[in-house]
Amino acid sequence: MKFNPEICSIPDKRMQPFIDPEEIWGYINNTKSEPDQVHEIIAKSLNKQRLTLKETAVLLNANDPVLIEEIKQGARTLKEKVYGNRIVLFAPLYIGNKCSNNCTYCGFRATNTEAERKTLEDNEIINEVTALEDNGQKRLILVYGEHPHYSADYIAHTVKLVYGVKSGHGEIRRVNINAAPFDIEGFRTVGKSGIGTYQVFQETYHPEAYTWYHLGGKKVDYNWRLTSLDRAQEAGIDDVGIGALFGLYDWRFEVMSLVRHANHLEACYNIGPHTISFPRIQDASSMNVKPEYLVSNEEFTRLVAILRLAVPYTGLILTARENADVRREVISFGVSQIDGGTKLELGTYSQTVNENQDLNKEQFKINDNRSLAEIIDELIDTGYLPSFCTSCYRMGRTGEHFMEFSVPGFIKRYCTPNALLTLAEYLLDYASPEVQKKGWTAIEKEIVKLEGQADTEEIRRRIDSIKLGQRDLYF
Ligand code: SAM
Ligand code: SF4
Repeated sequence: MKFNPEICSIPDKRMQPFIDPEEIWGYINNTKSEPDQVHEIIAKSLNKQRLTLKETAVLLNANDPVLIEEIKQGARTLKEKVYGNRIVLFAPLYIGNKCSNNCTYCGFRATNTEAERKTLEDNEIINEVTALEDNGQKRLILVYGEHPHYSADYIAHTVKLVYGVKSGHGEIRRVNINAAPFDIEGFRTVGKSGIGTYQVFQETYHPEAYTWYHLGGKKVDYNWRLTSLDRAQEAGIDDVGIGALFGLYDWRFEVMSLVRHANHLEACYNIGPHTISFPRIQDASSMNVKPEYLVSNEEFTRLVAILRLAVPYTGLILTARENADVRREVISFGVSQIDGGTKLELGTYSQTVNENQDLNKEQFKINDNRSLAEIIDELIDTGYLPSFCTSCYRMGRTGEHFMEFSVPGFIKRYCTPNALLTLAEYLLDYASPEVQKKGWTAIEKEIVKLEGQADTEEIRRRIDSIKLGQRDLYF
């Protein structure tokens, strides 16, 4: 299933900008949404074909509540049909909030004198990772401001430090990065430290709007950021994550641009983004954004469903910026990863008392403060299968979301069994007796569902080995 190129006004060339705002607005303004057309487009996506920009615009322009519900139902069906009920869990770890940029929406920006600046010392990183492991985390995303202190060498150093921390049965098996973009050499350095995904969010893809919010520092250069993941690819990092910060500009424009960005990477590198993130602006210390572009819950849930249908083989990441109710709805549209037990204040995973969020110490406010244990409990109760799987990345199977989507039987042979093995580890090492009980019942139910489609005897054998103390078994 190779990318079917669309004729775009700016041809896709490696490391060259590719967004034409007039073209994107042209699609949005000149597309009508007739019910038949919407139905056909949903059917195309359910038939496992990615959507064109024009088709995405048709879904974005569907304002009739009945059609909107059909789009959401399409996303739910796609999830059930393709991805099943696994949800991969991770946590963010903020390493340092010094920043030379001046992004008006962010509490870390250089001109915010209220912000308390901190960079974790190595021993503090070790303490934080130990606390995260003691909660059961296996996958982290490390987050940094943009500052000379956070060079490629420094980031690579912190990645290796994190991989080296072992607490009891705990270890971090996948370290992802959300940091400022580098040149090719810098990406190469970070890549060699063994990262999983490198995420860079464009914030807004609209060049003029971009200038409203980025008032100083390196980040003012729109094109440097737009082409950053091309440089990552050139440096050998083929696992990249894109995103837009919803609330800075018209949300429909951002959805179209995310699809265009995915097209660009596929056209140039034959591999699309591994993940798409859709953070929505949250309150931050001394934040200054235009209220007219803030995205309502209704629009937000709609845009995630449309993204799911438009780029059906890309992982979707949903964070604790959103409250538990919004998370519940959006997860059902085919989100693949969520964070759990998130704390944004630097150095607080290893502190026991930290009930109130202090905006001067955090990048922004989060709205889902539940612990990892509470989130896992709810996921199991609502029929999801929590997973800490890191297998593909370590087996050299890159582009796993694409494989899940396109290789028949892949999920049943690899993803679900690995979810079961990592959940078994979690239950034995970290869960309360009550969650353990529910968890083992859920595992048994999944194994029965896999009968005849996966090597269930081998799965049971490995679970028995885990019960006897073995760890890190995977397919
Ligand atoms: N400093 C790097 C950068 O800007 O790329 C790395 C990460 S920044 C700490 C992570 C992301 O947080 C940003 O890319 C932005 O999308 C998001 N963010 C910033 N301010 C936010 C806010 N007020 N609410 C929600 N998300 C925000
Ligand atoms: Fe700095 Fe990133 Fe915040 Fe901008 S979004 S001020 S670059 S930490």
